[in-house]
Amino acid sequence: MATAENIEAALKEAERVCKKQKICADKTAKSIDKLAETLLAAALDLPDHVIGREATNELSLNNAQDLLKDLTESTKDLHSAVNKLGKAVDKTFVQDICAAIRPVEFDQPTLNKVIAEHFYQQGNFRVGDTFVREAGIPNGGALKKPYIAMHSVLKEVLGHNLQPALHWTEEHKEDLRASNGSAAVSSFEFRLHRLQFLHTLQTAGPSKALAYARAHFAGFQETEMGEIQRLMGCLCFVKRPGSSPYSDLMSPAQWNEVAREFARQCCGLLGQACESPLLVAVAAGSIALPTLLKLATVMAGQNQDFQTCTQLPVELELGSEFVFHSVFACPVSREQSTPENPPMLLPCGHVLCKQSLQKIAKSPVRSFKCPYCPVEATLNSCRAVFFPDAQ
Ligand SMILES: [Zn+2]
Repeated sequence: MATAENIEAALKEAERVCKKQKICADKTAKSIDKLAETLLAAALDLPDHVIGREATNELSLNNAQDLLKDLTESTKDLHSAVNKLGKAVDKTFVQDICAAIRPVEFDQPTLNKVIAEHFYQQGNFRVGDTFVREAGIPNGGALKKPYIAMHSVLKEVLGHNLQPALHWTEEHKEDLRASNGSAAVSSFEFRLHRLQFLHTLQTAGPSKALAYARAHFAGFQETEMGEIQRLMGCLCFVKRPGSSPYSDLMSPAQWNEVAREFARQCCGLLGQACESPLLVAVAAGSIALPTLLKLATVMAGQNQDFQTCTQLPVELELGSEFVFHSVFACPVSREQSTPENPPMLLPCGHVLCKQSLQKIAKSPVRSFKCPYCPVEATLNSCRAVFFPDAQ
């Protein structure tokens, strides 16, 4: 598996190969020059059949053989370094991931649509168009259209023009309210106006900025008063931005943040996640892959079939950024809870699914021992637990 130490070791081997290669190349060049010299000298000696010249020739020949030997030695050195590097690379990176692949039947048209939508969402319209054409996706234009609008606004935002984004928000206000609630819409709208105010302040000066604030901040007094006060504070530090306690508001990163937030709002209206589902799936798969490969090896050693097992015998921890909803899996049945089979809290604090609990309890009043600790409970003393969705 690729660990930091392994990669470090492979890098060291690579450095060694570079060094050896340089030494080898230098030696080879020198040896070849010398060899050529020797052979030339021997050739010059050849036509004369004067006694004593043979000895010189023999000397040249010996010399040449020595040089060749030297050459072979340094090449050998290089080869062994290359071999070692190869082994270090093999040790660090698993090349064959097939062991972790399980036969899953993909719904090809849906998968194609997900891929095409990914390209459009990322703004890779040409790649998306080609893919739509080659995969024969019907109605590709409809997939693309909303993302064209989104990216044209995003481009303007990143070019420091917020008007199209404000216009879009105004135009979709009702839909946005319906899907996100009016508080979220108003907060996004305020973010746009706030950035426009700061931009005006930086590019057109305090009086223009103040005029903008008068025109647009009134509607946000109730919810954003603290923030509006900070923005007014900025007016006093226009000439000395270095000593401004509001310098965080002036950060250029604001544009990227607003762009990201705009994309999120836009995708939300399209019923899409802001992160491309394809990217999320690939990222989650990459994180899970080492564990799955290990598991496949371990299971093969125990004569179990990784390809056909219906439930993974280990938990795959992907990290909090991959948690979208709170889920509860019953530790007894290993099944995920459902509204019909909710998680139930025992008096001891352990939680099982209702069905598992019913199997253990047999009757509502019979007391039974918790499967995880010695505390006794009755079905009637257990309470259903509700997990709010993660935000
Ligand atoms: Zn317990």
